[in-house]
Amino acid sequence: MMATLKAVRGTRDLLPPETALWNYVEATARAVFARYGFGEIRTPIFEDTALFARGVGEETDIVSKEMYTWEDRTRADSDSAQSLTLRPENTAGVVRAYIEHKLADTGMLQKLFYIGPQFRRERPQRGRYRQFWQIGAEVLGPAWSGADSSLRDAEVLEMLSTFLNEVGVKGWKLEVNSVGSSTDRPRYIAALREALAPVKSRMSADNQRRAETNPLRVLDSKEPGDQEIIDGLPKIADFLDDASKEHFAQVLAALDACGVAYTVNPRLVRGLDYYTRTTFEFTVPDGSGLGTQNALLGGGRYDGLSEMLSGPKAPGIGFAIGEDRLILTLQAQAAAAVEKKLDAFVAPMGMGQNAAALALAQELRRAGLAVEVGDGSFRLKKSFEAADKLARRMVIVGEDEVSSGILTVKDFSAGEQTKVARTELVGFLRA
Ligand code: AMP
Repeated sequence: MMATLKAVRGTRDLLPPETALWNYVEATARAVFARYGFGEIRTPIFEDTALFARGVGEETDIVSKEMYTWEDRTRADSDSAQSLTLRPENTAGVVRAYIEHKLADTGMLQKLFYIGPQFRRERPQRGRYRQFWQIGAEVLGPAWSGADSSLRDAEVLEMLSTFLNEVGVKGWKLEVNSVGSSTDRPRYIAALREALAPVKSRMSADNQRRAETNPLRVLDSKEPGDQEIIDGLPKIADFLDDASKEHFAQVLAALDACGVAYTVNPRLVRGLDYYTRTTFEFTVPDGSGLGTQNALLGGGRYDGLSEMLSGPKAPGIGFAIGEDRLILTLQAQAAAAVEKKLDAFVAPMGMGQNAAALALAQELRRAGLAVEVGDGSFRLKKSFEAADKLARRMVIVGEDEVSSGILTVKDFSAGEQTKVARTELVGFLRA
């Protein structure tokens, strides 16, 4: 017997009614981002592997062990192959597109958002998948467009707080930090290495490895046994140069002016190589359906990324919201008041009424109502049951109704049955 085929580990199907919540979240993001002047960008789902190796960094967990990479032959019989990778994140792709399409030549600040799947070979668990969705945005441009201004950092953070409030997330928290400029960071990393050298043998295997390859990553370790050592490590704040300190102070002052609450978390350095200056993360409280994966979104400034990809200087800042986690949060908090039920279920009484029922449904749908049609083969009881599951009301289409033009409408929440003239039906169902 052949084995039944299933969705691959770490991937999943999204089905109605849950997809209505996904659409609601995406529509809210589009509406909010539009108010801040963002336009949509759609980049390919796979890219040259070198883009991520250079853009995200060889030593990051993502690039070193989580990417879906394959050799893609130019022709079936050819030996020459190109290394391609399913995108693990979208910032590198956006910056590549910025460089490729010479968006710098416009001289304007670019404000771009994206919504789409990303791929990482992580150990699947609740809130962590191998194909997951991100809603993200990037603000970048030549320095003279103001792309490196602290105002942009604060604007992005204020937009995110507005989005989370509008979409209905409760109790979110914003943590911010500055990881300094491209000259501050190496000095800090050197100090970290020095401080880690005598103590790392007492740390978990994971952190011993990170202490060697990417010491910044030690700071976001949640390994309980290592926390005391980590708390005693040098703080990045003590390594910022005056310009970075000033930039960070301006970001915080603008957040204060906008009434966006935050806490400064000196350990928030984030794993990717391209971050400079402001980094941030939004988390949700325990009991929001995410378990240990409580980071809803993260981001930061990446002033050197374009140059790392051989592009012009193009400072920028961006974020990525984990859409899967946002949905889990909304479901757990039951905060999204998404009306899932249809406006009406049209129930033909007998096969002879099917055509009339479909014509009535057409009329109601054209008027903008969401409508399902039953079938004349259903007994009345079955029509009631199906209608009660799907819709707020049921409209009965029998011989009498068709000839008189007076329809019987059953309202499920009120438990009432009402006679409504066909000409008034649309208005009645809208109410
Ligand atoms: P990152 O691109 O790693 O900065 O992640 C940004 C956000 O994407 C995180 O805060 C998560 O909400 C989400 N995210 C990252 N990896 C995954 C994953 N494997 N599954 C689901 N969501 C993820």
